[in-house]
Amino acid sequence: MIDLHAHSRASDGSDSPSELVSLAARIGLAAIALTDHDTLEGLPEAKKAAEANGIRLIPGCELSCEVPEGTMHLLVYFLDDEPGPLQDRLVGLQAARATRNERIVGLLAGAGVEITLDELLAEAGSGSVGRPHLAALLVRKGYVSSIQEAFDVWLAKGRPAYLGRDRLAPTEAVELAHASGALAVMAHPSTLGLGPELLETFVAGLAEAGLDGLESDYSRYTPEDRRAYRDLAGRHGLCVTGGSDYHGTYKPGISLGTGRGDLAVADDLLDRLEARRSAAT
Ligand code: AMP
Ligand code: ZN
Ligand code: FE
Ligand code: FE
Repeated sequence: MIDLHAHSRASDGSDSPSELVSLAARIGLAAIALTDHDTLEGLPEAKKAAEANGIRLIPGCELSCEVPEGTMHLLVYFLDDEPGPLQDRLVGLQAARATRNERIVGLLAGAGVEITLDELLAEAGSGSVGRPHLAALLVRKGYVSSIQEAFDVWLAKGRPAYLGRDRLAPTEAVELAHASGALAVMAHPSTLGLGPELLETFVAGLAEAGLDGLESDYSRYTPEDRRAYRDLAGRHGLCVTGGSDYHGTYKPGISLGTGRGDLAVADDLLDRLEARRSAAT
């Protein structure tokens, strides 16, 4: 089995990259993809741990794209931590995150919630810092009792401390991934919030623009969902992928590899992704 969607402390997971990779090896996975949000900072440490533990590491990240409604995340696979078109763009996204975090801390202060940027950075460590870390800090300081409550009261869209952030257009993200020699896969397609027909049209358009795959085998999905997304991928010549979206303590209830207990992503999904990559280069 493999897991093609996991986060480390380089973004909003609670395990360090080496803890994550050795956990993957310990539970018997053959391969793991590191897909931190907007950053490749965890890769050097993860690579070393993968070599030491005899497990295959797929370097990657997860990008947020600009869509009119809902949320679109794009998983990028085989993206190395070296200069390149997408890698350069990530540097800009990090800078925008830093500014946004400062402004959110300001909004919270205006509402009488006292947290500092130093406390936020201590909570998050380095890498991609964002709302999950703000939420954890609000819990730690006793302003709310859970990460979910932090979002519901303060940080979710429409709440007093919400701020959007800089996002890539979907086709731009796919093109940048390809320009960097990587593949682009739509994560958890349900979060787009589109009905079946609109999703079909959207996926068709993005497949035309070069999208490589759809994430069908996802922790939260029922067997019926997984089958429906596999069929959707098949109709547009796309690969299917799978992963848990493990975040450690930041997403309680999701285990690496097995998700909510019923996830099992077969090795051959990775073989097909690699075949597509070879065909493209
Ligand atoms: P950011 O990239 O800083 O905007 O944070 C996005 C992350 O926050 C997502 O990947 C989710 O893990 C989490 N998140 C966003 N909205 C919510 C919500 N309404 N409830 C719980 N977690 C959320
Ligand atoms: Zn995340
Ligand atoms: Fe995501
Ligand atoms: Fe994710």
